Amino acid sequence: MSVQSSSSNIYFHLGTVFMVVSIAVSIFVLTVIWKTSTDNNPTNNRYFNDYDTNFQDFAGHHVISICCTWGEELADGELTFMIREDDDDEDSDNQDSIGTLNRDSNTIKNEAVYDAIEEWDLRIERLTFREVQNKYDADIEIRFKEGESNVAGLTRNFYDRYGLITKSFVTIYDRGFLFAFNNDQIEQIAKHEIGHVLGLGHANFDDSLMVTRIHHGSGTISDCEIQAVYEANHWKLRNQGRDTHNHIYYPNIQYLECNNNV
Ligand SMILES: [Zn+2]
Repeated sequence: MSVQSSSSNIYFHLGTVFMVVSIAVSIFVLTVIWKTSTDNNPTNNRYFNDYDTNFQDFAGHHVISICCTWGEELADGELTFMIREDDDDEDSDNQDSIGTLNRDSNTIKNEAVYDAIEEWDLRIERLTFREVQNKYDADIEIRFKEGESNVAGLTRNFYDRYGLITKSFVTIYDRGFLFAFNNDQIEQIAKHEIGHVLGLGHANFDDSLMVTRIHHGSGTISDCEIQAVYEANHWKLRNQGRDTHNHIYYPNIQYLECNNNV
């Protein structure tokens, strides 16, 4: 009798220990899952850029801030891009499902994006852009999305553990009907966002492509933006063939001052 009760007592204790351990393990696993999922949330993860730099030290000076540098994806002097046709997120890989009407209206907007990319391509000497058909091959994914009140475009760069850009996602917000952007505006937004893709932050003066609000901005890529892109990725774009090993360096400066005459 006493033997039986003490052995069932042991089982009882074992059961309790097992229960406590499994609860602890579940809490741990849930915490890990929760951490990972919040890290993937663009609004509070460290991969999300905020290009609104602190310009207070630059009163009276026209500067463009330099954000970041491409990593080894730029080593061949080429960045690949894809304009995504689908409106919704990941699922529709079936290209046949896109209606002809939708495709026609997209073609016009896409032309504005192509023009923007082509101008950057022509202006930056040691860099070419190449279109690819598969998002997994694309260094830059560009897409249009139904409008959100104040934002015209958004660029999210993703970085490796050294802080070098590995991939860019550009979204251009397209507002319907009366508030729709015209093609020149879409081209300007695309040029501005490609500026972020190429490592630029914002400018602190009006009539610059990189000014925060497009209505105060310019649709032309000035020499100052070109120089800023060279500074951002100088390890590749300024390297005149002296270093064939393509060592990657961070930008030397955080701001580029623009002369009034550029
Ligand atoms: Zn911007």
